[in-house]
Amino acid sequence: LAPSEFIKEGGENLRSIICCIMGHVDSGKTKLLDCIRGTNVQEGEAGGITQQIGATYFPAKNIRERTRELKADAKLKVPGLLVIDTPGHESFTNLRSRGSSLCDLAILVVDIKHGLEPQTIESLNLLRMRNTEFIIALNKVDRLYGWKTCKNAPIVKAMKQQNKDVTNEFNIRLTDIITQFKEQGLNTEIYYKNKEMGETFSIVPTSAKSGEGVPDLLLWLVQWAQKTMVEKLTYVDEVQCTVLEVKVIEGHGTTIDVVLVNGELHEGDQIVVCGLQGPIVTTIRALLTPHPMKELRVKGTYLHHKEIKAAQGIKITAQGLEHAIAGTSLHVVGPDDDIEAMKESAMEDMESVLSRIDKS
Ligand code: GDP
Repeated sequence: LAPSEFIKEGGENLRSIICCIMGHVDSGKTKLLDCIRGTNVQEGEAGGITQQIGATYFPAKNIRERTRELKADAKLKVPGLLVIDTPGHESFTNLRSRGSSLCDLAILVVDIKHGLEPQTIESLNLLRMRNTEFIIALNKVDRLYGWKTCKNAPIVKAMKQQNKDVTNEFNIRLTDIITQFKEQGLNTEIYYKNKEMGETFSIVPTSAKSGEGVPDLLLWLVQWAQKTMVEKLTYVDEVQCTVLEVKVIEGHGTTIDVVLVNGELHEGDQIVVCGLQGPIVTTIRALLTPHPMKELRVKGTYLHHKEIKAAQGIKITAQGLEHAIAGTSLHVVGPDDDIEAMKESAMEDMESVLSRIDKS
């Protein structure tokens, strides 16, 4: 895929959906993303990335291919899906909070054998606090005793292949987990029976190992967002951009990983970023993204873009980024902007970021 194709799918004036993936450690968040991407980040393709926020872009074309078997003819109106992956370890509450604050909606992963765990509930509370809609991936269905693998099959088709004992165990666990959600004050239902979208949250059974239910998860997510979030997903020119990570990359010096939520960035744009020692005013030297379906955190080859439109996870190289602060906004200086006022507003983020770190 050439960089130009990368941003032009969709046709309507919608930006890509930003979705974050949350849940208890080991519920299978990384593996689920690996399954969709066809990568192997979970088994250590990339050492050390588990302490960073990641982002992966899935173009509409790939989503269409992946969901073909569901025969949903409904048009994909968004150019793609940007998935933000936050570190699962307990000590990263602030990163989870930063990641989730950018999202239009979320996938909450629950291990079918474990049910709701402490970080499931933490994630749940975070999502509710922000009024973020979410879908539950009830993962590891292949671990039900006697499960017959139906690689990448839609879940209804996979369930039809299972014997009575498997469906019984599935139903018992599902009912139990629905009760656990109820105890948290939440109505949930398996997605194809859910007639009260918005009030009742949908559960999509998945296996990140063999891919059952993954087409359902992708399709449900995109169709739901397209249907209920048109206003939120309408592309606007005003740049809305958050710094996820600040890091040194061999050959590029200090770079920042950002999520561009709206607007467009260009090579050569003058930007203002909040820095530990005061506002940083610099010029974008390069706009880099990983290839579609590849993780921004993982070292690899980058695509260079002259310009790039939201939503996207981007690595920016520029001078003077050493003291940039993750979690703050990036501002683009326009021809009529007062740079002093922008510097001030860039620094306003510092307090809220620092207070969030203190709390976590
Ligand atoms: P995370 O901490 O939520 O990102 O969880 P990981 O993706 O690292 O998965 C934790 C462990 O569960 C790993 O050993 C995975 O191989 C395994 N795992 C994840 N999803 C599945 C699944 O659907 N089926 C099975 N059998 N194992 C899974």
